[in-house]
Amino acid sequence: GLDRVLRPGRIGRLVLPHRIVMGAMHLGWDHRDDGGRTLAAFYLARVRGGAGLMVTGGAAVSPAGVDVPSSGVLDDTAFRERLRRVAGEVGAAGGLLALQLFHAGRYARPATGGPYPVAPSAVPSPLSRLTPAALPADAVTRIVEDFARGAAHARDLGFSAVEIMGSEGYLIDQFLSPLTNRRDDEWGGDPQRRMRFGVAVVAAVRAAVGPDFPVVMRMTGDDLLPDGTDRDTVTAYARALAAAGADALNVGVGWHESPVPTVQALVPPGHWVPVAAAVKAAVGALPVLASNRINRLAQAEAVLAGTPLDLVSMARPFLADPALVTRSRHGRPVNVCVACNQACIDRSLVGAAVSCMVNPLVGREADPATPSGSAPHVDPAVRAGSTPVHGPRTVAVVGAGPAGLRAAHDLALAGHRVTVYEADGEPGGQFRLACRVPGKADYAETIRFLTAELTRLGAQLHTGRRITDADEELLRRHDGVIVATGVLPRRIDLPGDGLPHVRDYGSAFADDALGRRVVVIGGGGIAVDLAHLASQRPDRQVTVLLRGERLGPRMGRSTRWAVLAELRRRAVQVVPGVRDLRVDPDAVRLVDGTGADRSVPADTVVVAAGQLPADDLVRTVRRAGVWHRVVGGARDTSGLDAVRAFAEGHDAALAF
Ligand code: SF4
Repeated sequence: GLDRVLRPGRIGRLVLPHRIVMGAMHLGWDHRDDGGRTLAAFYLARVRGGAGLMVTGGAAVSPAGVDVPSSGVLDDTAFRERLRRVAGEVGAAGGLLALQLFHAGRYARPATGGPYPVAPSAVPSPLSRLTPAALPADAVTRIVEDFARGAAHARDLGFSAVEIMGSEGYLIDQFLSPLTNRRDDEWGGDPQRRMRFGVAVVAAVRAAVGPDFPVVMRMTGDDLLPDGTDRDTVTAYARALAAAGADALNVGVGWHESPVPTVQALVPPGHWVPVAAAVKAAVGALPVLASNRINRLAQAEAVLAGTPLDLVSMARPFLADPALVTRSRHGRPVNVCVACNQACIDRSLVGAAVSCMVNPLVGREADPATPSGSAPHVDPAVRAGSTPVHGPRTVAVVGAGPAGLRAAHDLALAGHRVTVYEADGEPGGQFRLACRVPGKADYAETIRFLTAELTRLGAQLHTGRRITDADEELLRRHDGVIVATGVLPRRIDLPGDGLPHVRDYGSAFADDALGRRVVVIGGGGIAVDLAHLASQRPDRQVTVLLRGERLGPRMGRSTRWAVLAELRRRAVQVVPGVRDLRVDPDAVRLVDGTGADRSVPADTVVVAAGQLPADDLVRTVRRAGVWHRVVGGARDTSGLDAVRAFAEGHDAALAF
């Protein structure tokens, strides 16, 4: 049951419909000059899906506080007018929106000509590689006032609450930590003085908005940095924030530069709950929110059942499924966030507009009929809509991988009669391989969600049915065909590749019977996944041989380092710059990057050297003369990732 999660909650005077708070996310369209239409539609979709209190992406309290140029500044009247519309529309729809007040401090990566980053002390930022200017004491006071002015704006613009961004290593955290605050004045020198800035901000915000307006303080429960803020300081700080007027504490974990993964898929769900629980123990009755790596309401229920915590903050899960709360309430399948970070965090880190791998509609809520821009293949030989018929039409979707399932789902949702043909015995395509990789088990949820929705929407799914040349007549009976037949493993010219212990990656993923000494040939994401999977057995030695210098060069910025660290922990050997590969019955021989001859013992050799489009069917569809789109790997394998596959499936459905 979800009894605890679905009970009303409270932050100050604000009554919340349930115990889930949508956490702040940088969406990357604060600057879109559309009067706030995109932002409003994004939040409204979540209100309609049952979201309670939602927190906006950080709004900088002054120009120097902007982290990436795509974020809004509260000094900017046009931005404030956009926010007014957003708050007004959300409020009119019965939603609750808190404005997040933000200052990046030394994490700022200013636009050309923008203000130079400032911080408590001149400690270089690993994010911008700049050394910020140390703030003079009077400038510190002015930033406290900026926060207070931002809070007053929030109240006047019609927001229901404010959240002060004091976690993740931004300015307020930089004052708290001995690593970044080297001052010896009223703002630093000992824990008491380092706490003073955050406490002063809360007090000033409280004074600015009056006693009744809800103020949430987001703080770091554990910075996960060597010699960072100690536990006693965190406890004392939490109590001081409460005394200064915070109505709730939202507990974050880790800084952006912490060497410990916090929100990546390989962090087990609920892992950080004890950090928030420790803060709760320090502040007694004050509401405390847990956050980070909680992606289902059932997990949130377990948090509330197992700890005295009051509320649970979930952010990315609301990108993946705007109707997360309503669907969970009614026991319907949810489109679960798989914590890939590929379309959200990895993009927000560089200030790009976010989307979601499993939900390409993110950012297009205002205009759901606008394609995501993935430009699916349009065959010049067949004009789009060659038989324009309005109303429901019949579509065949060939292939039930990410692209095909998404296309089928969206077509069925639009009311068309959809039949999906999948050659394998089960749907899922490459996602079915991926879900065996540690941390990627939730990929199975995506397949489950889409297939359950297909059933609910009355679409037909035929597995074990390969569509071939002989099916031209069948295809012709449809008004449209989506070719989503995916990829084939690319063969490379490799002496010895006919030996029985040489496998392609597809069969290797599916098979537990890999030997004790596994060599993976390839350097992309699939090779990394395979090495990660194979290395789960502690008695197995895994070696990755790659031509290039960098393993997984296209992996996401927020995940690559964490996964590679995991491979190192599991003693996976990585040999870059290899050439002259040859497979012998007992070993792989090669010349390594230093020019040395090497022999790596192997009883299984897995080739993961890229993919080719499985596009045989395109000719048949063309001959049939039926409207069609080719999507995902079947269209093009260069630069293919699941984000693109889902987006192309979505766009193809829109084009029909
Ligand atoms: Fe979750 Fe990935 Fe979507 Fe981000 S892109 S919300 S991590 S599924």
